[in-house]
Amino acid sequence: MNALTVAKFGGTSVADYAAMTNCTSVIKGNPDTRIVVISACSGVTNLLVELAKGNVALDRQKAILTQLADIHFSILEQLPEKPSVAAAVNQILVDVSTFAAAADTSPSDKITDSLVACGELMSTHIFTHLLNTQGIDAVRVDVRDILKTDDVHGKATPDLVETSHHAQTILRPLCDEKVVVTQGFIGSDLNGNTTTLGRGGSDYSAALLAEAVQATTLEIWTDVPGIYSTDPRVAPAAKPIDEISFSEASEMANFGAKILHPATLIPAMRQDIPVFVGSSKAPKQGGTWIRREAEYSPLFRALALRCNQTMVTLTSLNMFHAYGFLAEVFNILAKHKVSVDLITTSEVSVSLTLDQTNTKGGAPTLPDAAEKALSKLCRVTIEQDMCLVALIGNHMGESRGSAAKIFGALEDFNLRMICYGASNHNLCFLTNTNESKDVVKALHKELFEAI
Ligand code: ADP
Ligand code: ASP
Ligand code: MG
Repeated sequence: MNALTVAKFGGTSVADYAAMTNCTSVIKGNPDTRIVVISACSGVTNLLVELAKGNVALDRQKAILTQLADIHFSILEQLPEKPSVAAAVNQILVDVSTFAAAADTSPSDKITDSLVACGELMSTHIFTHLLNTQGIDAVRVDVRDILKTDDVHGKATPDLVETSHHAQTILRPLCDEKVVVTQGFIGSDLNGNTTTLGRGGSDYSAALLAEAVQATTLEIWTDVPGIYSTDPRVAPAAKPIDEISFSEASEMANFGAKILHPATLIPAMRQDIPVFVGSSKAPKQGGTWIRREAEYSPLFRALALRCNQTMVTLTSLNMFHAYGFLAEVFNILAKHKVSVDLITTSEVSVSLTLDQTNTKGGAPTLPDAAEKALSKLCRVTIEQDMCLVALIGNHMGESRGSAAKIFGALEDFNLRMICYGASNHNLCFLTNTNESKDVVKALHKELFEAI
């Protein structure tokens, strides 16, 4: 099989002219790179999400539109003029105003998707032009013609059969001749409406495209030289990881390590595509390889932190030694499309956290109708302002003394809802948001810094 690399560049990697230029060096350095997946320029998606929420004061709307124009035109100004590119970016800015006006009167998940997609639509026009000016024969492809999804706006599920068909018939032949530049994060449903894969979804897009074209390598270029033992912004003593297994890295992504969208590794695992994570600013510094098996499987691998957690506790004496209670609870949750993340049970109560990784972000809420239905069955208590800390490792349950080590380091903190056992690779618990970073620092110090 011929080598084919799909390279994804995140928001900070395409934040401005200098950052974009670093990406072009990475692409030039590897002739196997035939498909390039780009995020919106740094900060752009946040601005678009703000507009999409509606009810934005007119002054603020204008300020956002000016800021969006500045971000994109300050890059274009440093490139040789190409009227068609400037016109395309201007037209997308007009679309932003139109969608923002629509969101202002009646915001919806569908308008949100069309609005937030504009970030990636603009950055890819500019980046393709930059590559062409540097002598790379690049072409921009609208990923909405390739990456097909269902119509769940804000967190669409890819249609793998349709996506593979379009990737094989459109992308594969094109990338034999040119470097294809396309958008991360966005797709379209079978009626052609724009959809998104949830915040941070460009990593997932790149993995889906890599799977669909049967790439041999997927590269995720970001602002840190690889995956660290924890977010280096939280614990500056965090250490880089050279090689990690798919299962460990998936757990990290799933439990909040922002470096990878939670679903990124699923397509890579299906197709067994090795994934490299590195810094577009310092590509020579190396990075992390994620593979089916890593040579070294340490007891403690990494810590992840995910905030904005919502914990729901359901209490009923009817649960005591009864059967069918949980089935009823989950029926109600399923009926209202509430996705559950963690779960713990006691004799008369069950606590669970709600899953939310959609484009609007924020803490997930239990829909009113679901709360009403559950209240007929039991007492419902909802708590927010919590973060989930996950310790990722290998065979922690088989190592005597590890629990004492972990919880000993946390004696000064309140821990809620401790979960362990379902996976060999992780132990997780909730903490109050205001203590969460200190919890990560304390645990990191005990497990990863003390030698
Ligand atoms: P991009 O815009 O390139 O997708 P993100 O901001 O989504 O970048 O992800 C990169 C960030 O992820 C880093 O700047 C870092 O703060 C954060 N991060 C969280 N956990 C980790 C980790 N374990 N290792 C490295 N970075 C991490
Ligand atoms: N631009 C989108 C976001 O900020 C997708 C991504 O960057 O991965 O969430
Ligand atoms: Mg990201």
